[in-house]
Amino acid sequence: MICIPVPRDGRVDEAERRRTVKVRIDKETCVGDETCVEICPEVFEMEGDVAVPKMENIPQNLEEKVKEAALSCPVEAIIME
Ligand code: SF4
Repeated sequence: MICIPVPRDGRVDEAERRRTVKVRIDKETCVGDETCVEICPEVFEMEGDVAVPKMENIPQNLEEKVKEAALSCPVEAIIME
């Protein structure tokens, strides 16, 4: 669960509003089955035998697909922060 402190006047801090989720892949753990690339080719691609993210910061409109890829990875090699 992510908790965002809300000031007393009800405004959410602008920095929190612009919060970006980052993604990386543990190359030592990845078994290269390409599941993440099939689910979200906008963010993941193969580099030899392992997957790599094309970007570090995930655009908000792709967060759900990246989350689905992370949950589908058979070895939990996709790390979202
Ligand atoms: S789903 Fe996981 S194991 Fe498969 S290619 Fe992507 S990061 Fe590697």
